[in-house]
Amino acid sequence: MSNAAETRLWHPFANMADVKQKPFLVEKADGVWIFDEGGRRYLDGTAGLWYCNVGHGRTEIADAVSRQLRTLDTYFVFNDFTNTPAELLARRLSEFAPMESAKIFLTSGGGESIDTAAKLARLYWAKRGQPERIHILSRRHSYHGTNGFGTSMAGIETNRTGFGALLPDTTRVAHDDADDLRATIERIGAGEIAAFFAEPVIGAGGVRPPEPGYLEAAAKICEEHGILFIADSVIGGFGRLGSWFGVERWGLRPDMITFAKGVTSGYLPLGGVAISGAVADVFWEAPGNPFPHGPTYSGHPTVAAAALANLDILEREQLLQRSGELEKPLYDMLCKVAEHPAVDHVRGGTGLLGALELAPALVEQDKTVVAKAQRAVREHGAVVRPLASALAVSPPLIITEEEIGLLGDSIVAGLDAIT
Ligand code: PLP
Repeated sequence: MSNAAETRLWHPFANMADVKQKPFLVEKADGVWIFDEGGRRYLDGTAGLWYCNVGHGRTEIADAVSRQLRTLDTYFVFNDFTNTPAELLARRLSEFAPMESAKIFLTSGGGESIDTAAKLARLYWAKRGQPERIHILSRRHSYHGTNGFGTSMAGIETNRTGFGALLPDTTRVAHDDADDLRATIERIGAGEIAAFFAEPVIGAGGVRPPEPGYLEAAAKICEEHGILFIADSVIGGFGRLGSWFGVERWGLRPDMITFAKGVTSGYLPLGGVAISGAVADVFWEAPGNPFPHGPTYSGHPTVAAAALANLDILEREQLLQRSGELEKPLYDMLCKVAEHPAVDHVRGGTGLLGALELAPALVEQDKTVVAKAQRAVREHGAVVRPLASALAVSPPLIITEEEIGLLGDSIVAGLDAIT
């Protein structure tokens, strides 16, 4: 029996038995701060769910959305229909994308983009006369959303168990070992494999920057075997890793890049896939070859208008560079916090994100310790993200060094409270 005061909102990934009586109500947000119903402020140390790169309360995004809603609120881009914001956005993103003659397919979020890229990879091979190339490789610890393909590819085991049969043709490789990738390809047979998906820095699976040389080696192995290399830059894009698509710092030129989150700083739901000309040409240059796939809100003009205003801010305020400048101060702060006995080690230093791995003894003793730590940090004024055995941070790119210090203080105070 549920009681009338309990929430009716089912929170993703939440243990509702704990949450239902007292969800944490966020009332408003501004800059790097969120405010609860009592008006108390908390530093948004995670930029929401790794997305609010330009920070909260940007009236220019609100104005762009409002203007667009009053002009062309919504219309689709199926068949030959189009609209100006979607066109402008695709053009701008294709110019930023580190690939030849990129084309942009728009979706409503990251998981949809993963499904789009996976289906496109398989169909690409079918069109090229190799329909047996359907296998998809991903990395252990990876997170690719919770849609069909993303669930099947998940490198976080708990995200793929309990649902019965998933897509059989997926395999996970060691997350940072190019030899394992090569051996797996040889075992399965390159001729059976459509694509390899990799987050440049693994996010939800623990914030795991790649070992030096790993991504470059993995991309090369894919190229040698004709396997499509698909970068999942849903977290890494739009400044989080200091560049537009999160892969430029390694000089990668993927066949596709999935993106979402920072493309609108989360103000409205948008994702997409950047597709290299070489892949797209199979569809674009040969008549009678549609991609029979399309979420209703692909190319939604109001969402695209929000993205354009967001890109304007990222450019005008040089937030990609700023992210690079803040990378070290954030990492230094985390290293200092890691002296706390509740912390085992830090992961990060590549991009404006990091994680504090809690001491194994604490995690073994109490399975709920990460959730407790997250709440305790919040009690002390900051939002951090609970992962399996770590607390993650990924602040808005507008955070100041002083605010990074405040974030560190809140984390230490929270850890003190639980130990
Ligand atoms: N890929 C990565 C790397 C992500 O981090 C996420 C979400 O956190 C997704 C895909 C899924 O995106 P969405 O939650 O918008 O479906």
